[in-house]
Amino acid sequence: MTGATEGFSLAREAVTLVTYLVASVLFILGLKGLTKADTARRGMQYAAVGMLLAILGTLIKQEIVGYGWIAAGLVIGSIIGWPLGTQVPMTAMPQRVAISHMFGALAATLVGVAEYHSHMLSGETIARPIMAALGFEVLFGALTVTGSFVAFGKLQELKWVPGRPVTYKGQNLVNALVFASAVAMFLYLIWRPDAQTVFYAMVAVALVIGASLVLPIGGGDMPVVISLLNSYAGLAASATGFAIDNSLLIIAGALDGASGFILSIIMSKAMNRSFANVLFGAFGAPVAQTGTAIQGEMKEISVEDAAMQLAYAQRVIVVPGYGLAVAQAQQVVRELAHEVERRGGEVKYAIHPVAGRMPGHMNVLLAEANIAYEKLQEMEEINPDFPTTDVAVVIGANDVVNPAARKDKSSPIYGMPILDVDRAKSIFVLKRGKGKGFAGIENELFFDDKTRMLYGDAKATLSRLVSEMKQV
Ligand code: NDP
Repeated sequence: MTGATEGFSLAREAVTLVTYLVASVLFILGLKGLTKADTARRGMQYAAVGMLLAILGTLIKQEIVGYGWIAAGLVIGSIIGWPLGTQVPMTAMPQRVAISHMFGALAATLVGVAEYHSHMLSGETIARPIMAALGFEVLFGALTVTGSFVAFGKLQELKWVPGRPVTYKGQNLVNALVFASAVAMFLYLIWRPDAQTVFYAMVAVALVIGASLVLPIGGGDMPVVISLLNSYAGLAASATGFAIDNSLLIIAGALDGASGFILSIIMSKAMNRSFANVLFGAFGAPVAQTGTAIQGEMKEISVEDAAMQLAYAQRVIVVPGYGLAVAQAQQVVRELAHEVERRGGEVKYAIHPVAGRMPGHMNVLLAEANIAYEKLQEMEEINPDFPTTDVAVVIGANDVVNPAARKDKSSPIYGMPILDVDRAKSIFVLKRGKGKGFAGIENELFFDDKTRMLYGDAKATLSRLVSEMKQV
């Protein structure tokens, strides 16, 4: 290498290092921004700029052998990514996230396999620490690929992936044995890195583990699983960083791994469930044999009467749920609140941590309608207010307001903290008919003497309520 070329390549290396450093700082600032609603947008922008820098820094790296493949990947990725980003509705966000994790993990696994394969082809021995990183990468990467795909299939209700937990006797033992065999292969590879058959067998077993880990999980536990898979994908990426000596991948993967893990713990807590119970408890199993039968009938109210009562209510709590997202009724909710407030009433919004179909779903919806963030109150904060509330307006929420979670031990959602809507002075429930919620169970709140049903699509009912209230 001549002096000039050497100097040039050193300069390129330095530029890459600096962009990696700045990108890492931006990722950390991005995560910090995401912890609060008012800084979340800025946080996303930091992270996006960080990612751009990371890509640019990598593109000028010396190890890049040709830009042709990268350009092809960019085109294919954009063709897949564009519709994923623009067309997928908010209600399908959990499965979209699951499929993104699958792609991320697939990339990490393929890098690991390619790295191993090229070492084997060149006859180079792989140092043990590198083998440990490679093994970890493909093990976690491969299990995340199939795990995320099964999670996607369950949430998307693909015909050949059952949404309900798939369980059989001794399942946890079988899963533990399969996992132990993968760990044994991993340890063997650290001792004998050139054992190619063992390497590929470990990849295959990891693929099986991913599917069998997620198949027994269902119901409301799916979001916890998805965030856990996010964490695994991050750990696999971090291990990739060690294997191919890329500091940015180590940092970004570790951030992803840690934040996914913390989110999983927070969500388990929000559902009052232990982590182990989520993973091995087969929550969401068929419920036909459980749950106490409910006596009584659901009583309807006319839109006119409901509007009259709301017009004179002093304290109103809106309880949004999945149906609000389906109906896309967030703008009309704000108009309804405006009508109450115009008459001197106070309106708050009760946010359950797992209302809707993804963490923060209700916050995002209501923010879209420019509803002030201070009016949104978390479950623990708002629950004491229900007994002094004149009207609780439940809009497309079901499981998160089901009192069975508090008192019916045979209910599949028993133990999940709920919004104490049944303690309000009167309750309006807006839903299309007698449809059940995500957990597939009856809700005694709808049969309560204080509850009145307003049937119909939430957006249509709310619009009629608003126009009636304008005339009161
Ligand atoms: P639910 O799924 O329990 O209930 C939604 C209700 O909305 C249904 O009873 C349905 O009744 C009604 N509905 C549907 N469409 C409309 C519409 N257009 N207009 C009016 N009503 C409508 O929702 P919740 O938010 O109460 O609970 C969320 C559930 O999802 C929990 O069990 C949670 O564990 C689970 N989950 C949460 C995730 C998260 O991260 N937030 C992710 C995955 C699952 P009808 O058909 O009669 O209209």
